[in-house]
Formats: sequence, C-alpha cells, structure tokens
Amino acid sequence: MKYVIDFGPLPALPVVGGSDRFPVGRIYCVGRNYAGHAREMGHDPDREPPFFFMKPANAIVPNGATIPYPQATKDLHHEIELVVALGKGGADIPVAKALDHVWGYGVGLDMTRRDLQGEAKKMGRPWEMGKGFDHSAPCTALLPASKIAHPAKGAIWLKVNGTVKQKGDLAEMIWNVPETISYLSGLVTLQPGDLIYSGTPAGVGPVKPGDKLEGHVDGVGDLTVTYAN
Ligand code: MN
Repeated sequence: MKYVIDFGPLPALPVVGGSDRFPVGRIYCVGRNYAGHAREMGHDPDREPPFFFMKPANAIVPNGATIPYPQATKDLHHEIELVVALGKGGADIPVAKALDHVWGYGVGLDMTRRDLQGEAKKMGRPWEMGKGFDHSAPCTALLPASKIAHPAKGAIWLKVNGTVKQKGDLAEMIWNVPETISYLSGLVTLQPGDLIYSGTPAGVGPVKPGDKLEGHVDGVGDLTVTYAN
C-alpha cells in the first residue's frame, strides 16, 4: 500500500540501552497533579477528580535537542514531569491492575504557552493552543519497567541555566500513576503507545530564547534541551 502524501516518520522515542524504539500514539497530560503547583496556579489542591488535556504525538522532542522558540507566545513555561509509556491498552482498568499496562518511564517537559493558556481559561475556551503546539513535549529515552520497576517516590527537579526552579517528589502526586491510568481508562480506551505526562511540581516559570533546561527524575533519567536564540 502507498500513501497519497508524504507523511513523515511515525513519532517514536528511543529506548535506553538499545536501538529499538517505542512508537508514540497519543499524549495525555494530567493537569494540577501536585498540590504546590495547583496552589501557584490559583487553585485549591482538593482531591478533585483528575482532568486531562492532549498534545499531538509529533510534539515529541528527543533528549539533547535544540528547540526552535515557539511561535505566538511571550510567556513560554517549563513543566517537568514523569512520563508513563503504556505497552498495553484497555478501558475501565482497575487501580490494582493499572501498572500491568505500563511499558516504561521517561522524563518529559510539558512546555506551555502560559499566555495563550491563560487567555483560553479566561474565555472558557480549550487549552490546546497553550499546550499542544510544535515541539511542546520533550522526553528522554524510555526505561522499561521490567528494569526499573515502577517509581512511586523520588526527587523530580528542573534547572534553567543551572539554577533550580522546580523541585518536588513523585510521592507528592495528588493522583498517583495507577490511579491516573485507571481514571483515564474510564474516559477513553487506552492504547499501546499512549504516553501520560503525569503533572508537574511547583515552580513553573518562563523560558527565554537561549535558555538551557535540565530536568531529572530519580531512577528514571535526565533530560536536557536548549532553546534556540
Ligand atoms: Mn503539565
């Protein structure tokens, strides 16, 4: 079979320690999943049900990349996050079975055009143009859960030009990874290749052209990207 247009390669992430790649289907992101970040965004960190937004699969950016500064924003923000990569799909997955669906983990950035997101919130409009833009989802190579198990605690931090801006612990998530998978699978049928960006700790802030972002999650990896001048 031939396609009628040139579509480009399937979005994919490398896997640590090999040449095989993980195909990226859909990218789901959890909003306000750490109390400190919910507070800094002006919300009560009550345990409300989790909520989700999406990014296109081709928003993935590999570790080490230099990223063109995005269009149409004067307030690009960093959000460092643990990324969960699903190897098995399913609907209505019970919490106790949710981790069986995880293939592996990575360290990602949910890059956000905060000015466009803020405008959308004010107008009661969708968030997509604040969240789902080109190059908005940097992510490290994935580590298989078969090698590292399922990280439920450990430091998560982000530095901008060498200065720590975000700092937290995976244990501070309002909805942990199995709960998030279970809840999301009650809204959509999850598929192998789906990624879940699991939310960001407090300390989000602006990124300027030329900035170097270094992110870390204990036991999962280190992500470095640089914005072009
Ligand atoms: Mn986020």
